[in-house]
Amino acid sequence: MLLCNSIVSSVFKWHFPAVIAEEMAPPQSILYPPEKIYMEWQQRQRAGAGLGNLGNTCFLNSVLQCLTYTPPLANYLLSQEHSQSCHRRDFCLMCSMEAHVNEALRSSDSTIQPWAIVRALTRIGKDFMLGKQGSARQCLHRTINTMQRNCLSRRSRLDIASRSTTIVHQIFMGYLRSRVVCLSCSAVSTSYRSFLDIPLDIKAASSVPAALEDFVKPQQLDGENCIQCSK
Ligand SMILES: [Zn+2]
Ligand SMILES: [Zn+2]
Repeated sequence: MLLCNSIVSSVFKWHFPAVIAEEMAPPQSILYPPEKIYMEWQQRQRAGAGLGNLGNTCFLNSVLQCLTYTPPLANYLLSQEHSQSCHRRDFCLMCSMEAHVNEALRSSDSTIQPWAIVRALTRIGKDFMLGKQGSARQCLHRTINTMQRNCLSRRSRLDIASRSTTIVHQIFMGYLRSRVVCLSCSAVSTSYRSFLDIPLDIKAASSVPAALEDFVKPQQLDGENCIQCSK
Protein backbone atom coordinates (compact mmCIF):
# COMPACT_ATOMS: atom_id res chain seq x y z
CA MET A 1 0.00 0.00 0.00
CA LEU A 2 1.20 3.47 -0.87
CA LEU A 3 -0.29 6.51 0.83
CA CYS A 4 -0.11 9.83 -0.99
CA ASN A 5 -1.43 13.02 0.56
CA SER A 6 -2.04 16.19 -1.37
CA ILE A 7 -3.37 19.57 -0.39
CA VAL A 8 -6.30 20.76 -2.40
CA SER A 9 -7.35 24.36 -2.73
CA SER A 10 -10.51 25.25 -0.88
CA VAL A 11 -11.65 27.32 -3.85
CA PHE A 12 -13.69 24.87 -5.78
CA LYS A 13 -13.74 23.19 -9.13
CA TRP A 14 -12.71 26.12 -11.29
CA HIS A 15 -9.30 26.16 -9.66
CA PHE A 16 -9.07 22.40 -9.44
CA PRO A 17 -7.02 20.30 -11.78
CA ALA A 18 -9.46 18.29 -13.93
CA VAL A 19 -8.73 15.01 -12.19
CA ILE A 20 -9.85 16.34 -8.79
CA ALA A 21 -13.00 17.93 -10.19
CA GLU A 22 -14.04 14.49 -11.44
CA GLU A 23 -13.58 12.94 -8.03
CA MET A 24 -15.39 15.51 -5.94
CA ALA A 25 -18.98 16.50 -6.57
CA PRO A 26 -19.22 20.16 -7.61
CA PRO A 27 -21.01 22.54 -5.21
CA GLN A 28 -24.74 22.92 -5.76
CA SER A 29 -24.61 26.55 -4.75
CA ILE A 30 -21.87 29.16 -4.48
CA LEU A 31 -22.22 31.15 -1.28
CA TYR A 32 -19.51 33.65 -2.10
CA PRO A 33 -18.08 34.09 -5.62
CA PRO A 34 -14.30 33.48 -5.55
CA GLU A 35 -13.69 36.27 -8.08
CA LYS A 36 -14.88 38.75 -5.45
CA ILE A 37 -12.14 37.73 -3.01
CA TYR A 38 -9.21 40.16 -3.31
CA MET A 39 -5.89 38.99 -1.96
CA GLU A 40 -4.37 42.50 -2.03
CA TRP A 41 -5.59 45.45 0.03
CA GLN A 42 -8.34 47.29 -1.83
CA GLN A 43 -7.75 50.52 0.06
CA ARG A 44 -4.44 51.82 1.27
CA GLN A 45 -4.26 51.13 5.01
CA ARG A 46 -2.14 52.77 7.61
CA ALA A 47 -1.50 50.76 10.76
CA GLY A 48 -4.74 50.60 12.73
CA ALA A 49 -5.39 51.04 16.43
CA GLY A 50 -3.71 48.91 19.06
CA LEU A 51 -5.89 46.74 21.29
CA GLY A 52 -6.20 47.24 25.03
CA ASN A 53 -5.67 44.19 27.22
CA LEU A 54 -8.98 43.71 29.01
CA GLY A 55 -7.74 41.11 31.50
CA ASN A 56 -5.49 38.33 30.15
CA THR A 57 -6.96 38.88 26.69
CA CYS A 58 -3.58 39.00 24.92
CA PHE A 59 -4.26 35.61 23.26
CA LEU A 60 -7.50 36.98 21.79
CA ASN A 61 -5.92 40.30 20.82
CA SER A 62 -3.16 38.54 18.88
CA VAL A 63 -5.79 36.55 16.97
CA LEU A 64 -7.83 39.70 16.26
CA GLN A 65 -4.74 41.49 14.99
CA CYS A 66 -3.82 38.58 12.67
CA LEU A 67 -7.35 38.50 11.24
CA THR A 68 -7.57 42.31 10.93
CA TYR A 69 -4.42 42.29 8.77
CA THR A 70 -5.45 39.37 6.55
CA PRO A 71 -6.22 41.41 3.38
CA PRO A 72 -8.92 39.20 1.75
CA LEU A 73 -10.89 39.05 5.02
CA ALA A 74 -10.32 42.72 5.90
CA ASN A 75 -11.35 43.88 2.38
CA TYR A 76 -14.61 41.97 2.75
CA LEU A 77 -15.32 43.20 6.28
CA LEU A 78 -14.44 46.82 5.39
CA SER A 79 -16.99 46.69 2.57
CA GLN A 80 -19.68 45.91 5.21
CA GLU A 81 -21.26 43.56 2.71
CA HIS A 82 -21.82 40.95 5.42
CA SER A 83 -23.98 43.03 7.80
CA GLN A 84 -26.05 44.37 4.91
CA SER A 85 -27.32 40.89 4.16
CA CYS A 86 -27.04 39.15 7.58
CA HIS A 87 -30.39 38.12 9.02
CA ARG A 88 -29.18 36.53 12.25
CA ARG A 89 -31.06 37.82 15.25
CA ASP A 90 -28.76 36.20 17.81
CA PHE A 91 -25.00 36.60 18.11
CA CYS A 92 -23.07 36.65 14.83
CA LEU A 93 -19.29 36.67 14.96
CA MET A 94 -19.06 37.86 11.33
CA CYS A 95 -21.07 40.98 12.29
CA SER A 96 -18.88 41.48 15.39
CA MET A 97 -15.67 41.01 13.40
CA GLU A 98 -16.94 43.43 10.76
CA ALA A 99 -17.55 46.07 13.44
CA HIS A 100 -14.18 45.34 15.05
CA VAL A 101 -12.12 45.52 11.84
CA ASN A 102 -13.85 48.74 10.75
CA GLU A 103 -13.17 50.30 14.13
CA ALA A 104 -9.57 49.05 14.36
CA LEU A 105 -8.62 50.27 10.88
CA ARG A 106 -10.66 53.48 10.78
CA SER A 107 -10.40 54.78 14.33
CA SER A 108 -8.21 57.83 14.92
CA ASP A 109 -7.47 56.56 18.44
CA SER A 110 -4.14 54.87 19.01
CA THR A 111 -5.82 52.16 21.13
CA ILE A 112 -9.31 50.67 21.16
CA GLN A 113 -10.95 48.26 23.61
CA PRO A 114 -12.33 45.23 21.76
CA TRP A 115 -15.23 44.74 24.22
CA ALA A 116 -17.72 43.50 21.62
CA ILE A 117 -15.55 40.46 20.90
CA VAL A 118 -14.35 40.00 24.49
CA ARG A 119 -17.94 39.86 25.75
CA ALA A 120 -18.63 37.14 23.20
CA LEU A 121 -15.62 35.01 24.27
CA THR A 122 -17.77 32.12 25.50
CA ARG A 123 -19.60 32.09 22.16
CA ILE A 124 -16.26 31.52 20.45
CA GLY A 125 -15.30 28.71 22.84
CA LYS A 126 -17.04 27.50 26.00
CA ASP A 127 -13.76 27.19 27.89
CA PHE A 128 -12.73 30.79 27.16
CA MET A 129 -13.46 33.18 29.97
CA LEU A 130 -12.66 36.82 30.63
CA GLY A 131 -9.64 37.02 32.94
CA LYS A 132 -8.40 33.53 32.09
CA GLN A 133 -5.41 33.10 29.78
CA GLY A 134 -6.13 30.99 26.69
CA SER A 135 -4.23 29.47 23.76
CA ALA A 136 -4.00 31.77 20.73
CA ARG A 137 -3.90 28.81 18.34
CA GLN A 138 -7.06 27.30 19.82
CA CYS A 139 -8.69 30.72 19.82
CA LEU A 140 -7.86 31.24 16.13
CA HIS A 141 -9.32 27.81 15.30
CA ARG A 142 -12.52 28.45 17.20
CA THR A 143 -12.87 31.98 15.84
CA ILE A 144 -12.56 30.83 12.23
CA ASN A 145 -14.89 27.87 12.85
CA THR A 146 -17.49 30.14 14.46
CA MET A 147 -17.24 32.61 11.56
CA GLN A 148 -17.68 29.71 9.13
CA ARG A 149 -20.76 28.47 11.06
CA ASN A 150 -22.24 31.97 11.08
CA CYS A 151 -21.74 32.22 7.30
CA LEU A 152 -23.75 29.00 6.97
CA SER A 153 -26.62 29.94 9.27
CA ARG A 154 -30.01 28.74 8.02
CA ARG A 155 -28.24 26.71 5.39
CA SER A 156 -27.77 23.51 7.34
CA ARG A 157 -28.88 21.25 4.51
CA LEU A 158 -26.15 22.32 2.15
CA ASP A 159 -23.96 19.69 0.51
CA ILE A 160 -20.34 19.53 1.69
CA ALA A 161 -18.96 21.13 -1.48
CA SER A 162 -21.30 24.14 -1.15
CA ARG A 163 -20.27 24.58 2.48
CA SER A 164 -16.75 25.23 1.32
CA THR A 165 -17.82 28.16 -0.87
CA THR A 166 -18.24 30.61 2.04
CA ILE A 167 -15.72 33.43 2.06
CA VAL A 168 -14.27 32.10 5.34
CA HIS A 169 -13.71 28.60 3.97
CA GLN A 170 -12.20 29.92 0.77
CA ILE A 171 -9.72 32.13 2.63
CA PHE A 172 -8.71 29.88 5.51
CA MET A 173 -9.66 26.28 4.92
CA GLY A 174 -8.79 23.59 2.43
CA TYR A 175 -8.97 19.90 1.70
CA LEU A 176 -6.45 17.22 2.22
CA ARG A 177 -6.73 14.45 -0.32
CA SER A 178 -5.40 11.06 0.68
CA ARG A 179 -4.97 8.33 -1.88
CA VAL A 180 -4.10 4.80 -1.01
CA VAL A 181 -2.76 2.73 -3.88
CA CYS A 182 -2.61 -1.06 -3.57
CA LEU A 183 0.78 -2.23 -4.79
CA SER A 184 -0.62 -5.69 -5.73
CA CYS A 185 -3.68 -4.78 -7.80
CA SER A 186 -3.21 -0.98 -8.28
CA ALA A 187 -6.67 -0.25 -6.79
CA VAL A 188 -6.86 3.38 -5.64
CA SER A 189 -9.04 4.67 -2.82
CA THR A 190 -9.35 8.41 -2.30
CA SER A 191 -10.66 10.34 0.66
CA TYR A 192 -10.97 14.05 1.44
CA ARG A 193 -10.73 15.77 4.76
CA SER A 194 -11.36 19.43 5.43
CA PHE A 195 -8.54 21.23 7.26
CA LEU A 196 -7.97 24.56 8.89
CA ASP A 197 -4.25 24.18 9.38
CA ILE A 198 -1.53 21.74 8.46
CA PRO A 199 0.92 20.43 11.06
CA LEU A 200 4.40 20.86 9.53
CA ASP A 201 7.64 19.47 10.86
CA ILE A 202 9.59 22.74 10.64
CA LYS A 203 12.57 21.43 12.61
CA ALA A 204 13.39 18.83 9.99
CA ALA A 205 12.91 21.13 6.96
CA SER A 206 14.95 24.04 5.63
CA SER A 207 11.94 26.10 4.52
CA VAL A 208 8.15 26.10 4.61
CA PRO A 209 7.87 24.82 0.98
CA ALA A 210 10.29 22.00 1.90
CA ALA A 211 8.17 21.17 4.97
CA LEU A 212 5.04 21.13 2.77
CA GLU A 213 6.76 18.85 0.29
CA ASP A 214 7.72 16.53 3.10
CA PHE A 215 4.12 16.55 4.34
CA VAL A 216 2.78 15.30 0.99
CA LYS A 217 5.61 12.83 0.31
CA PRO A 218 4.25 9.36 -0.60
CA GLN A 219 4.70 6.86 2.16
CA GLN A 220 4.81 3.10 1.92
CA LEU A 221 2.45 1.51 4.42
CA ASP A 222 3.78 -1.63 6.00
CA GLY A 223 3.69 -3.55 9.25
CA GLU A 224 1.06 -2.18 11.63
CA ASN A 225 0.13 0.57 9.16
CA CYS A 226 -1.08 -1.92 6.54
CA ILE A 227 -4.74 -1.70 5.57
CA GLN A 228 -6.97 -4.21 3.81
CA CYS A 229 -7.33 -3.56 0.07
CA SER A 230 -11.01 -3.10 -0.81
CA LYS A 231 -10.52 -5.26 -3.91
ZN1 LIG B 1 -23.87 38.55 10.72
ZN1 LIG C 1 -5.39 -4.76 -3.98
